[in-house]
Amino acid sequence: MNRNLTFTMIKPTAFKNNNTGGILKMINDAGFVIKAMKLTRLSPEFAGDFYAVHKERPFYGALVDFMSSGPIIAALLEKDNAVDDYRTLIGATNPENAVKGTIRKMYATNLQQNAVHGSDSDENANIEADFFFSKTERY
Ligand code: ATP
Ligand code: MG
Repeated sequence: MNRNLTFTMIKPTAFKNNNTGGILKMINDAGFVIKAMKLTRLSPEFAGDFYAVHKERPFYGALVDFMSSGPIIAALLEKDNAVDDYRTLIGATNPENAVKGTIRKMYATNLQQNAVHGSDSDENANIEADFFFSKTERY
């Protein structure tokens, strides 16, 4: 299997609750290598652009408000089969449906505040990484 990249964010509630260390430990223990990482806060405009694919969904406005409500950790991760393996590690979007031992089962507050973001394709992983990281910020 080829090593490839996925992009993640630790969302505002999980960051505020001091779950960053626990989440990063799960990420490292699952074999992901951190290629880039930063602590930052999204402006509403930036969050709106990042989630533009959901613009027509009823939860879009609330999602943009939430994602810009406080600091987040953004990171670029590398592993064999990174996109699919990371989505397995984080679990279902709704934490009520997330499998035991997944990041969302452990750390999500609710469907919106579900602890982490994970890319849904190789193409989107690269697009999302480009939102946050220049070439010189990747190792
Ligand atoms: P993410 O893109 O954050 O990794 P995902 O791919 O599992 O999550 P998406 O369908 O892309 O899920 O939704 C993006 C985010 O929007 C979700 O993670 C969640 O925070 C929020 N969201 C999704 N569906 C709902 C909903 N029905 N009500 C409220 N918020 C929602
Ligand atoms: Mg998604």
